[in-house]
Amino acid sequence: MKIILITGGAGFIGSHLAKKLLDAGNKIICLDNFYTGRMENIAGFLKNKNFKLLKRDVAKPLAIKADEIYNLACPASPRRYRQNPVKTIKTSVFGALNMLALAKKNKARILQASTSEVYGDPLEHPQKETYWGNVNPIGVRSCYDEGKRLAETLCMDYWRQYKTEIRIVRIFNTYGPNMNPDDGRVVSNFIAQALRGKDITIYGGGSQTRSFQYIDDLTEGMIRMMKQDEFIGPVNLGNPNEFTVKELADKVLKMIPESKSKIVYTSLPEDDPRKRKPDISLAKEKLGWEPKIELEEGLGKTIEYFKGKL
Ligand code: NAD
Ligand code: UDP
Repeated sequence: MKIILITGGAGFIGSHLAKKLLDAGNKIICLDNFYTGRMENIAGFLKNKNFKLLKRDVAKPLAIKADEIYNLACPASPRRYRQNPVKTIKTSVFGALNMLALAKKNKARILQASTSEVYGDPLEHPQKETYWGNVNPIGVRSCYDEGKRLAETLCMDYWRQYKTEIRIVRIFNTYGPNMNPDDGRVVSNFIAQALRGKDITIYGGGSQTRSFQYIDDLTEGMIRMMKQDEFIGPVNLGNPNEFTVKELADKVLKMIPESKSKIVYTSLPEDDPRKRKPDISLAKEKLGWEPKIELEEGLGKTIEYFKGKL
């Protein structure tokens, strides 16, 4: 039995990871300040003696015992991370510094939840881990993008300087149950809008692309990465099937035939990447991992979850 700290454990990805690692017989410490996380995501674990909740900010230093750390604390929705950009940077950078210091002290392994956003508005397509990216350092998304890039730098420097056992995963757009229907990301927005009979809001012309990964595929990849003894990453974890935002809207409407919603087009947010698709050959080679759940199946499960909540 390991003691595993998950920062951001009450969020969308963190709550799934907590369930999987609890079911595997580990002790979970969930650290969260509930900025975007929700008590309902972890309510089912609160009575489990192997689950402990620490309501606190990852940007504050922490001294506890842990064998492994998954560092996920950070708002992931552009709407939410742009609301308080200075705080987003503090969360990413001070959070990574604090968790790396904790890993060093405990001689624990730490997995950093990085992002496809490190590639910015990519000029290479699909994106390989060797690509350095095309990020605007002074734009409205840079609090998140540059915060995550600096967190990767800190991980690599802890590894080079102190031999801290770091692992870096670059997560591409992920969706599924436990997403907050109101946090503004595209899959949750479209499903919630379709179920509520509200307009489906496509930003820009809808020709921008994303590659959507179902949550269960991601958590499997993250746990495999944590188990690696030599390979530290960074490694892309995403589903390489690419869709335009318009195709996604059409699919959601087709899967909710009772919906009265109509598609409307509104302005494109600044610096919105035009395309995004992971090259996952490294994950296949090193982790023996590839996604198994395709968009329709995953959307079906997510729609069922949202129907139960809205
Ligand atoms: P989420 O917003 O649902 O979860 C983030 C969690 O971190 C929330 O529970 C939030 O309350 C918590 N948090 C935020 N700031 C904190 C702070 N200062 N101290 C303590 N807790 C804090 O987002 P998610 O989709 O679950 O994303 C989890 C991680 O994965 C994030 O680091 C995100 O950048 C990364 N990621 C997610 C995606 C995706 O598509 N979901 C893609 C790339 C990277
Ligand atoms: N988007 C959209 N309508 C919405 C929400 C998002 O058209 O209601 C678009 C957004 O402009 C982007 C894509 O969908 O091109 C994915 O957005 P999201 O916020 O989910 O994540 P991102 O990949 O941009 O971080």
